[in-house]
Amino acid sequence: ADVAMYSAKDTRSGERVYHPSQDRNTPTRLALIGDLGQAIDHRDLQVVFQPKVDPATGHVTGAEALARWHHPEQGFIPPDQFIPLAEQSGLIRPLTLHVLDVALRRCASWRRTGHDLGVAVNLSPNSLLDTDLPDVVARLLRETGVPPHALTLEITESSIMADPTRSLRTLDRLHTLGVKLAIDDFGTGYSSLGRLRDLPIDEVKIDKSFVQRMAVDRRDRALVTSAVQLGHALDLEVVAEGVEDLDTYTHLTREGCNLIQGYYVSRPLPADAFATWLRDHEVI
Ligand code: C2E
Ligand code: CA
Ligand code: CA
Ligand code: CA
Repeated sequence: ADVAMYSAKDTRSGERVYHPSQDRNTPTRLALIGDLGQAIDHRDLQVVFQPKVDPATGHVTGAEALARWHHPEQGFIPPDQFIPLAEQSGLIRPLTLHVLDVALRRCASWRRTGHDLGVAVNLSPNSLLDTDLPDVVARLLRETGVPPHALTLEITESSIMADPTRSLRTLDRLHTLGVKLAIDDFGTGYSSLGRLRDLPIDEVKIDKSFVQRMAVDRRDRALVTSAVQLGHALDLEVVAEGVEDLDTYTHLTREGCNLIQGYYVSRPLPADAFATWLRDHEVI
């Protein structure tokens, strides 16, 4: 059973990555859910930060908060594996609140030390169905003193589709607080352009699958160009994620892309390393 839990594609790095969502062994899966719950309760779930840069000025404008889980026995478990597990087991609410709490506290500390930065936090589909999320967000903003406009919440098109009416109500209330909303993985969903126009959003993040191939594939370049133009036509900020090299960075800058995120600028960093990085790279 152990072998089946590790997928072949991960062995190329010589590192085995545990895939709990492929695990049919119920006791193991339940144990893992228990461990995840404990990690959240004990604040052992780490939050790392990846900078976002404005290519027009070279200024760092903020960072995306990403969750990391280092399991005591299984080692590193990627978010693509434990986020679905949290979604399926009712742990996504405490997980999201933990990440929000850590991210806002860090953002407050950057701002106290003179950096005018924002922070972005990912919301999973079920969070949009959580009707008291806007109240919790408002309370955390008050407690940490972070102004609402410095918080961006990233959502995917498909998470809205699960229950559009209820999701829209949550989004409207968050937007009324002054929090910014971004459509994540833009270009991978199926929603209509009309829906995009009607959502209370401020930003679109072009999915890294397009961005990563644009240096080598003319069609991906064309898709990215259209996405930037569409975003601007709708008065939205356009962010590109997954920017890994100078060519792509330069190309996106020329296209008028508003913000850039990716390994070319920096990998996601633990909070202390991010603070150090910031001192050296406030202007790229
Ligand atoms: P995402 O929100 O689309 O996050 C971007 C992912 O791309 C992150 O993967 C990031 O590390 C990776 N990335 C950034 N720049 C580059 C690059 O230049 N090249 C490549 N190849 N990858 C890059 P990560 O951290 O493994 O997260 C995967 C997904 O897990 C996220 O995708 C998001 O959907 C989810 N996730 C992570 N943290 C959280 C969280 O706190 N809450 C929720 N609900 N979801 C989370
Ligand atoms: Ca994201
Ligand atoms: Ca994304
Ligand atoms: Ca994604």
